Amino acid sequence: MCIQTLRRAAALKQNFCCWYCDFQMWERNCEEFARKHNISVGEAKRFQCTAEHLIARRDGGTDIASNIVAACLFCNRTRHRMPSALTHKRYRHRVSRAIRKKKWHPSSIHAALGGVCR
Ligand SMILES: [Zn+2]
Repeated sequence: MCIQTLRRAAALKQNFCCWYCDFQMWERNCEEFARKHNISVGEAKRFQCTAEHLIARRDGGTDIASNIVAACLFCNRTRHRMPSALTHKRYRHRVSRAIRKKKWHPSSIHAALGGVCR
C-alpha cells in the first residue's frame, strides 16, 4: 500500500484528529479549514494531515499500517526536529502535557480549536 493510502486510512480511523495533540486536521482544503475554525490560513497550515511513522524510517520503521498514524504537520515536524527524537510514546506524553497547559499551539489556536476532537 502506498503511504497516501495508509495516511488516509489512519486519518479516518482517528476522525482526522492528530495522534499527538488531538487537534483537528485538514486533508485537502486549508482555506476552508481556516474559515470553519475562524483562524488564519497561516495558522491553519500546521494542521495539515501527514503520515507519521511511529518508528521513524531512519530507525528502521517501514511503511506498514501498524507503523503509520495520522499527525498534524506541526507535531510531525517537531518530533523529528528534536536532536534525539523521542519514542512515539514519550513524545505523545510530552505533547499531551503541553496541551493541558495550553502551551503546544499558539493560545489563539487553543481557544479556537481546543476540544474539537474531544
Ligand atoms: Zn498535532
